[in-house]
Amino acid sequence: MSSIKTVNPATNQVVKEYEVMSHEQVNTILSDADKAFKKWRKTPFSVRAELLHKVAAILRERKEELGKLCSIEMGKLLREGVGEVMLCADIFDYYADNGTQFLADSPLETPTGKAFLSYEPIGVLLSVQPWNFPFYQITRSAAPNIMAGNTIVLKHASNVPQAAEIMEKIFAEAGAPKGVYTNLFVPGSKVSQLLSDPRIKGASLTGSEPAGSSFASMAGKYLKKSTLELGGSDVFVVMPDADLDKAVKTATAGRLWNAGQVCVSPKRIIVQEAVADKFIEKAKVIFENAVVGDPLDPKTDLAPLSSEKAVQDVIKQVEIAVQQGAKLVTGGKRLSRAGAFMEPTILTGITKKMNAYSEEIFGPVLVVYSVKDIDEAVELANDTTFGLGGTVFGTDTDKAVEVARRIDTGMVYINHVTGIAPELPFGGTKNSGYGREQSPAGIYEFVNAKLIRVTTPDAPY
Ligand code: NAP
Repeated sequence: MSSIKTVNPATNQVVKEYEVMSHEQVNTILSDADKAFKKWRKTPFSVRAELLHKVAAILRERKEELGKLCSIEMGKLLREGVGEVMLCADIFDYYADNGTQFLADSPLETPTGKAFLSYEPIGVLLSVQPWNFPFYQITRSAAPNIMAGNTIVLKHASNVPQAAEIMEKIFAEAGAPKGVYTNLFVPGSKVSQLLSDPRIKGASLTGSEPAGSSFASMAGKYLKKSTLELGGSDVFVVMPDADLDKAVKTATAGRLWNAGQVCVSPKRIIVQEAVADKFIEKAKVIFENAVVGDPLDPKTDLAPLSSEKAVQDVIKQVEIAVQQGAKLVTGGKRLSRAGAFMEPTILTGITKKMNAYSEEIFGPVLVVYSVKDIDEAVELANDTTFGLGGTVFGTDTDKAVEVARRIDTGMVYINHVTGIAPELPFGGTKNSGYGREQSPAGIYEFVNAKLIRVTTPDAPY
């Protein structure tokens, strides 16, 4: 049986299987992408922008169908899937609207002559993506890079092949020349081999730390520029002046978003001792009233996890935490029905010695810490190998910003869980990876910022 297949996590039934591509098929795809690059790099920005706008329009038109596909392939709530597709359309439009300006020659001050940076595409890029946002993950690497004149070969996660296949068809329907955007149906274990191919000039991976580490070492070995967007363990710091009801509502909704399978989900809630019990009590009520069930039913709050393995892994992490002395406030069990469903869960009393202190829990598990003051909150926030996002929640936003400055991550949101917008950069520090996607920054990762200097032979340099 192929490793590349759709298994509906709400039923655990296999829906569709795909053949793993042969070495010859992969070779042809890379050649086509390389040939396409030679022409695509010379296309005017207006042609590239038109393609991206068309992709955006098709996504908007088909949002219900594509949203539903997310539910079937990885269990996402239908409304979340539709929202994701709309966000992708916005990202394509953003780079179509702004790419020309971002990539215009950038003059440099120099005492003699003239100098400027010319932003030039570098070639075929390998994009390796995870399943948790089947359309968004591929969009945020495809949109800026295709606008920049690169071509993309996508290796999507093995459990969302239909999303990969549909996106390739959407590009074709929008008029993308052959080879500009193509799928590779290969397992993760084949990626290092791909990185050795001289036709691939740059590579990005979004996924887990182990995959990122192996990917980056291979990219280094073959001297390929790479970016990594890896795991996170975002904090949600509740300031003393916070409106507790709003804080609880925001943190719990954030943790149930995408069944907790979001790199920037608020995974560690940090509350002052004086209000910790109240916070936990309120969160418990919300979690115990959350409707767990069919992702296609609009009344559902929590859909299944992405796969049988995913639910087993998260349940195991909770069990180990409890064995090691954590308190299970609510949840922690699977639902007694078919599919990868689990109860929304709250853990407290996690200490440094427990696995749950340092591991990312990729599921609907709210971990609440209580601290005596903000200094302790900041120390705890930074005591992790991850550095992706984070939240500071409070009424005095100046004070919240001061705390945000002390948190060692790539993004901190005040009064909101770490969010996503085309114009805002996304990315982390420490073991959460390097590089940025979205925003102007996202378009400069895989271009050659070439210096062109116009001077005279008698100039000093
Ligand atoms: P994963 O196992 O690392 O898979 C991600 C992608 O990498 C898949 O396409 C996978 O292919 C491939 N892959 C697996 N092993 C590989 C290897 N050794 N070399 C190269 N590629 C490899 O990640 P996951 O567990 O599915 O996804 C969840 C993780 O992604 C979480 O840690 C989450 O926080 C992180 N994430 C981060 C961001 C961010 O922006 N920072 C966003 C979303 C998710 P196969 O499917 O074929 O194995």
